[in-house]
Amino acid sequence: MRPALTQTAQFPSVSAPVRRAIDAALYGEALSADDGCALIRASGADLAAAMAAAAELNLRARPHRRVTYSRKVFLPLTNLCRDRCGYCTFVKGPGQAGAHTMTPDEVLAVARRGAELGCKEALFSLGDHPEWRHPEMAEQLDRLGYPSTPAYAAAMAQLVLEETGLLPHTNCGVLSRDEMAALAPWNVSMGIMLESVSETLFEPGGAHYGTTSKSPEQRIATLEAAADFGVAMTTGILIGIGESLEDRVDSLIAIRDAQGRRGNIQEIIVQNFRAKPSTRMRAAAEPSLVDMLRTQAAARLLLGPEMNVESPPNLNADGCGAYLLAGNNDWGGVSPLTKDFINPEAAWPEVAALRAITAEAGFELRERLALFPDYAASGRWYPSAAVAHRAGELVADDGYVRPESEVR
Ligand code: SF4
Repeated sequence: MRPALTQTAQFPSVSAPVRRAIDAALYGEALSADDGCALIRASGADLAAAMAAAAELNLRARPHRRVTYSRKVFLPLTNLCRDRCGYCTFVKGPGQAGAHTMTPDEVLAVARRGAELGCKEALFSLGDHPEWRHPEMAEQLDRLGYPSTPAYAAAMAQLVLEETGLLPHTNCGVLSRDEMAALAPWNVSMGIMLESVSETLFEPGGAHYGTTSKSPEQRIATLEAAADFGVAMTTGILIGIGESLEDRVDSLIAIRDAQGRRGNIQEIIVQNFRAKPSTRMRAAAEPSLVDMLRTQAAARLLLGPEMNVESPPNLNADGCGAYLLAGNNDWGGVSPLTKDFINPEAAWPEVAALRAITAEAGFELRERLALFPDYAASGRWYPSAAVAHRAGELVADDGYVRPESEVR
């Protein structure tokens, strides 16, 4: 029988369910939903022990104590969308102030400026198939010469890669295999947030009420289909949108299961809901820092040491340093040029400030591509020769951006 790693004498106040979950994680065993629920409810000594175990697990895979970020430009190719999520301030209707679909010239101008500033990633983040809802978008795509929004996104990704050398990472929602096939060769990785497997969110008044793209099954299918095209994927959970703590655990386990089947999930994001004016959820409570920490620790312990775990630093600017004490190892994308169009009220930190926050928590900030170092170093997750060639110019053998190419 294995000895308990968290001895009662050392942790007299830690509850038996949390101690059991921590021991299982540290022994490399798959945690059950009950284990996850014990962790995600943790407070007091239970939370402190869960965070310490999560931090320990992270260091097992990253003894060099590196924490990463991607230097990017944000390209909101279109803010039209087929859906209306209860928390979304990004989405606009065709006649609404601020509605915009970027032209190829606008895309190139931003990407070129980003390249001048040392960015490596072009993040295309856009609404899901807006042409299915808005005839105006279908007409605009027709004028541009594309049959669909994903086809336009694929062409813009190719343009940016070929003209600027920035490596695209596209988030454009649920994709068919044909759409994925068109996007894959021009993206170094792609993303789709699972957000939550909660069915409650689809009920009247729920965050996903009336949406068609937020189906967890379709989003998991998109994540898995990407593996067939050699595409590493970013996904994650959005917390505080009306889901239960059990739903969060089920969502993390659904991601773990998908990773077990296909192996192409390079990263999970634990993202906190932010209440925004003019949205249906403008008066909803936002997750606290403690809620973030227990969810991050649970994510690390459920997903294991190898998984990259990220939370955006700009959505909790005052407390984000604590994320690194709960097992996180990445800050996501940070831009010196463009704002966070999804959370426009939350400015990115300066890289120097992020470096200081990271150092204060005991880690070294390093730049990565939109493909994580372990995925880049493996050489397995390049969807095309063009992407592999450009990435190879930017990273060293260890998969991190070459030190001489980093912006300090
Ligand atoms: S969150 Fe995404 S899918 Fe939902 S309305 Fe906004 S852009 Fe559309």
